[in-house]
Amino acid sequence: MTTSAQGTRSRLFDVMEIRKDFPILNRSVNGHPLVYLDNAASSQKPEQVLKAMDHYYRNSHANVHRGVHHLSQEATDLFETARKTIASFIGAPTTREVIFTKGTTEAINLVAYTFGLSQLKPGDEIILSAMEHHSNIVPWQIVCEMKGASIRYIPVFENGELDVEWLERSVSDKTRLIAVAHVSNSLGTINPVEQIISIAHNRGIPVLLDGAQAVPHMTVDVSTLDVDFYAFSSHKMYGPTGIGILYGKESWLNALPPWQGGGEMIEEVSWSGTTYNKLPFKYEAGTPDMAGAIGLAAACDYISNLDRNELLDYEKMLLKTCTNAMEDLNGITTIGTATHKASVYSFNVKGVHPFDVGTILDQQGVAVRTGHHCCQPLMAHYNIPGTVRASFSIYNTLEEIERLVEATQKAIKILA
Ligand code: PMP
Repeated sequence: MTTSAQGTRSRLFDVMEIRKDFPILNRSVNGHPLVYLDNAASSQKPEQVLKAMDHYYRNSHANVHRGVHHLSQEATDLFETARKTIASFIGAPTTREVIFTKGTTEAINLVAYTFGLSQLKPGDEIILSAMEHHSNIVPWQIVCEMKGASIRYIPVFENGELDVEWLERSVSDKTRLIAVAHVSNSLGTINPVEQIISIAHNRGIPVLLDGAQAVPHMTVDVSTLDVDFYAFSSHKMYGPTGIGILYGKESWLNALPPWQGGGEMIEEVSWSGTTYNKLPFKYEAGTPDMAGAIGLAAACDYISNLDRNELLDYEKMLLKTCTNAMEDLNGITTIGTATHKASVYSFNVKGVHPFDVGTILDQQGVAVRTGHHCCQPLMAHYNIPGTVRASFSIYNTLEEIERLVEATQKAIKILA
């Protein structure tokens, strides 16, 4: 993409210019130009992110927070500046509330183990939703079993929307935490998180949002949301793999115990015990992923330099065009028809296993995800083995949607 002298991008959204930033989009797969529609699993990376990480390793790498030498201080500055960029990207009031993790999964586990083990007691309940990714179910099952607590699930309507009235009726004095996806990875539903937070906070219950599928597609401001914990992954938002964020309100992070022990997270260690470092380091045991943090900050800058409303409108247009065109095909069922959706089109072909459809699409260079999308309970609810999921990003084009539709038509001809 071209940038002006001030470093801000043209306000006119030009997908072909955006595509130039993503080198992988030029390759072919199975003899066809790649159509990458598996962005909900992981997005591709722009040159700006690749260069930031390469530059760090070539010029500034050393361990952080410990060396007096120049390079260590330079690496520390870059790492902590990255944290500032990310804090500002999600509207966190202070970097003390921004914890580096391996990703969404580790961020949720951090809360499950610190909050769960210190706050839950026998008979307590936590509330999740029936559309959660396994990473927002399994950690809670483990911790609830350890503490004798139980889990209740907000039901999902046929169209993929949550039954928020059920939540209103079901929160009680036993409820200790509500943890839900901001956007569903398998259905694309954008959940009414403001309403959920308001129901919870009216009763003094904290809320964790799984933002893995939200941050790549919409502006998320944790302060405006007033959310207690917010988890997301870098690799789904044009950043590198292996790094993500747990945002947590300072009051909670101070009140909860540490999780993993080791270097960095300590203030002082003796044979008889340890005192812990201040936030955010209390929750960052061991050498952190400096290059990952710098890459994630570069991804935040990349998104911030674009007009986010235009991106949102563009992705909505792709979703709508795709939904209309696919629903015109014979034997297609759309899974997830919520009014508010983001960038995910899940479908099935009547009488055909999603895996078989995915294989035929792959033969035509179209990359989609097939299966249960780490949402087995939700698939059981719909009584299906899984779905074929096309998920869109800012670099996808209308021509690529056409390729998906044509490839699906061919799959129907062969399989149905
Ligand atoms: N939650 C949701 C909604 C997701 O889509 C994903 C990734 N598929 C995760 C959690 C887990 O993210 P990660 O594997 O990056 O930890």
